[in-house]
Amino acid sequence: MTNSNPESAEVSTSESRPSNFLRDIIASDVQNKTYGDAPIQTRFPPEPNGYLHIGHAKAICLDFGLADEFGGKTNLRFDDTNPEKEEQEYVDAIQEDIRWLGFKWERLCFASDYFPQLYEWAVKLIRDGNAYVDDLSAEEIREYRGTLTEPGKNSPYRDRSVEENLDLFVRMKQGEFPDGSRVLRAKIDMASPNLNLRDPVMYRILHATHHRTGDDWCIYPMYDYAHGQSDSIEHVTHSMCTLEFADHQPLYRWYIEQLGIFPSHQYEFDRLNLTYTMLSKRKLLQLVTEKRVNAWDDPRMPTLSGIRRRGFTPEAIRAFVASAGVSRTNGIVDIEMLEHFQRDDLNHRSARAMAVLHPLKVVIDNYPEGQVEHVDVQNNPEDPAAGTRQVPFSRELYIEQDDFREVPPPRYYRLSPGKEVRLRNAYFITATSLQKSRDGSLTEVHCTYDPLSRGGNSPDGRKVKSTMHWVSAKHAIEAEIRLYDKLFLKPDPYDFPEGPEGHPSHDLFDNLNPNSLEIVSNAKLEPSLASAKPGDRFQFERVGYFCLDPDSSQTRKVFNRTLPLKDTWAKIEKKAGS
Ligand code: ATP
Ligand code: MG
Repeated sequence: MTNSNPESAEVSTSESRPSNFLRDIIASDVQNKTYGDAPIQTRFPPEPNGYLHIGHAKAICLDFGLADEFGGKTNLRFDDTNPEKEEQEYVDAIQEDIRWLGFKWERLCFASDYFPQLYEWAVKLIRDGNAYVDDLSAEEIREYRGTLTEPGKNSPYRDRSVEENLDLFVRMKQGEFPDGSRVLRAKIDMASPNLNLRDPVMYRILHATHHRTGDDWCIYPMYDYAHGQSDSIEHVTHSMCTLEFADHQPLYRWYIEQLGIFPSHQYEFDRLNLTYTMLSKRKLLQLVTEKRVNAWDDPRMPTLSGIRRRGFTPEAIRAFVASAGVSRTNGIVDIEMLEHFQRDDLNHRSARAMAVLHPLKVVIDNYPEGQVEHVDVQNNPEDPAAGTRQVPFSRELYIEQDDFREVPPPRYYRLSPGKEVRLRNAYFITATSLQKSRDGSLTEVHCTYDPLSRGGNSPDGRKVKSTMHWVSAKHAIEAEIRLYDKLFLKPDPYDFPEGPEGHPSHDLFDNLNPNSLEIVSNAKLEPSLASAKPGDRFQFERVGYFCLDPDSSQTRKVFNRTLPLKDTWAKIEKKAGS
């Protein structure tokens, strides 16, 4: 599904690193030797319940980037406490994506490796009178919990003896009780203004097979019980996460203090949000399972595997994330900003090629039949080291349908009857006559060329106002081109009318863009593209940035449009129309 052999782009130390409050904290801890001579330790803690998205790229760049900068280390830790939603497929994909982004973890860890330790600590908390087995149902626990304005109520089981709690907890572990019949809870404070401290659940009974521990366990720790202690076990010094975990921090601290273990400290930062898309693994999974996209790595998805397949580069993503910055308030970033960084990067690195998406046949009547010549073309004007290539030219060519108008509107400078234009790197041509089919549609434009204009300039200094790309008809290879547009129609996909109470008639997916994928099935490409390999990126001159899709076969290439070039003509037309 994903590229089997993704490139990995190492992060260079010269990448721009604007300052932020997290860096300031770490810098000061390093300077003050808050953790002695031990190096800074961070971790990236994904739950393996979906593929990583561009929001995760921000967390990854902070966790790995800041540790690297201060000579520290970063663990990749899978927070795999939820056997029902987690899968090996996700564990593998997440590792592939992090490597692709250009980062290396120090240790590969799994919260599930800590299950025995977490269990022992739970027993300690029971012994110390800090945890109890509760027989209330999930529903009752919710009712007893209270609200933001009302305190909760103590469970009738809260004052069980240590002996009874120990006995019941051991029997929970041994599988004596059915799912949902009992839980282990921390005994903190049912009146705490912080709901996370109202005797949170630590363990639940779940007779489920775990992707790593199999059937070893039928009780599983809650994320909130596992997370802080996992950090502590790994001696994480700076545990960075998004703002929604800020209210959980006091709980993580409570566990660490009661257990007297390494005091990892948590720091929260803002989530990355982007316009015209949505960053929630749960909703992205829904797009996949409801087949609204083709897969997790569908190039329309904001997943790292999706945008990789679309042709985005790790360098551009890192530059974008760095520039979007870090703060303590959630905001939303224009997707155009990400696209800007991507265009900038591709402009420097991608080889140019000529491709005609909507072909129109051009016949050059005064060009000798059967003759073929090769014009020398620069691979990348931004990078002379990229060299040149030979592109065949002959009597019959394809140009874009849009580059010809029988009746040109004002300020249309491309080909039209009697008008002379330049074929890029080749010759000047002038349209002389048209050939149409019976139904009146245009089939061929006949032209003459000026043999003295080879290379694209006429010796008499004659000027033309337009330069067009072209492909020699008999040398062209046919390809499928997938043109992608925004996934959602609105900048905020969650902007939809509310249905009547209890009858939600609208949802997020009402805002999906029905035209987010357009397939062009018979584009004509210059023959050098026959040797392109999946993942290779090109700028098709005047059309946009493209990347070869792994769906390509020996005989048929499939290209994804990463991004269009900025289209000034479309703007002019739009202005004229409005
Ligand atoms: P989602 O809400 O998409 O399901 P999550 O937060 O549940 O994501 P985790 O696997 O728990 O996903 O995330 C791993 C790390 O990535 C966490 O530290 C989390 O704070 C961070 N993270 C997740 N989404 C974003 C985002 N949009 N921007 C920045 N960091 C994020
Ligand atoms: Mg999560």
